[in-house]
Amino acid sequence: MNLFDVYPINPINIVKGIGSLVYDDKGTEYLDLYGGHAVISIGHTHPHYVKRLEDQLHQIGFYSNSIEIPLQKQLAEKLGQVSGKEDYQLFLCNSGAEANENALKLASFYNGKKKVIAFKNAFHGRTSLAVAVTDNPKIVAPVNETENAIFLPWADEAALEQAFADNEISSVIIEGIQGVGGIQVAPILFLQKIRTLCDEHNAVFIADSVQCGYGRTGKFYSHDFAGIDADIYSMAKGMGNGFPVGAISISPKIKPWYGELGTTFGGNHLACAAALAVLETIEQDNLMANAAEVGEYLISELKKFDKVTEVRGRGLMIGIDLPAELSNVKKDLLFKHQIFTGEAKPNVVRLLPALNLTKAYADKFLQAFDTTLKNS
Ligand code: PMP
Repeated sequence: MNLFDVYPINPINIVKGIGSLVYDDKGTEYLDLYGGHAVISIGHTHPHYVKRLEDQLHQIGFYSNSIEIPLQKQLAEKLGQVSGKEDYQLFLCNSGAEANENALKLASFYNGKKKVIAFKNAFHGRTSLAVAVTDNPKIVAPVNETENAIFLPWADEAALEQAFADNEISSVIIEGIQGVGGIQVAPILFLQKIRTLCDEHNAVFIADSVQCGYGRTGKFYSHDFAGIDADIYSMAKGMGNGFPVGAISISPKIKPWYGELGTTFGGNHLACAAALAVLETIEQDNLMANAAEVGEYLISELKKFDKVTEVRGRGLMIGIDLPAELSNVKKDLLFKHQIFTGEAKPNVVRLLPALNLTKAYADKFLQAFDTTLKNS
């Protein structure tokens, strides 16, 4: 059987990882500033993570959601504490799309409405509802339910107010920083406006934190910069540091009822152990502060490059705009300097490293970036 080809791939076979470094099958060392698309939050093979997963695997990996799983309660407690949203409720699932799918459904169960506001260039996943509010017609199949999705221009308060006028909005879904859309930071006043309008119209504010959450920006949720509380936070990627786990954190105003949400694998013992290990490490190693500090340093240094058109981001979620003629930079960084970065649009270099990136590795990247730009 052949693989169903869906991803463009680089001819590199990564077989090992330690912290911010990965190694291919020939022993070549790479600096990983992409983390498999913001998935690696605490670094590859972090000792605490490996031990917690290994210990759990020796105990039990999976049973079912029909029994009590104390690890789920521990995870909810820890997530409440680290995120500062202790009165929220946790629903565990397996991916970012599934988290958003459930968030959108829950919002609709809650207020009985159907319409969802999303934004230009948004990415929320590839399942039916998640893809319907994703601004990429190429990945929307005829079967997907798009008729209730309303796409608004990014950060346009007037358009937002107008969309609320008919009072049919169930929810607004917004990334605190658009990732796939090219690292666009949501303005604080705009997030506050969404909060006000959702309150006035009994609509649900869904903060997609799948890529920008989990401490990456220096705050647990990047929406926290606006000083507001969302009704539902969706998360995945960095939550499991590579183990597939997703979740929504739900405000106490939304009451659960039996049979409303569910999934076979969600909250299994191994997933909980992985997610707990990540949170414990974020806390013990002070990783949010490190992300803020090293991120701020990188952003300020990157702004000094003449050839860079714009630098955007917060903490360790950074987008570097380059002129169209420099679209080779990403490939040169990988093949000449052995540094993995990510792409958003062809001329945007995306940095999504592990939150424990050191300043020394940031400097190594800056030097390679300088050489690459000089030779371009
Ligand atoms: N939301 C955002 C903001 C994302 O960046 C992604 C993945 N790129 C998703 C949702 C979907 O996550 P997953 O691939 O785990 O379904």
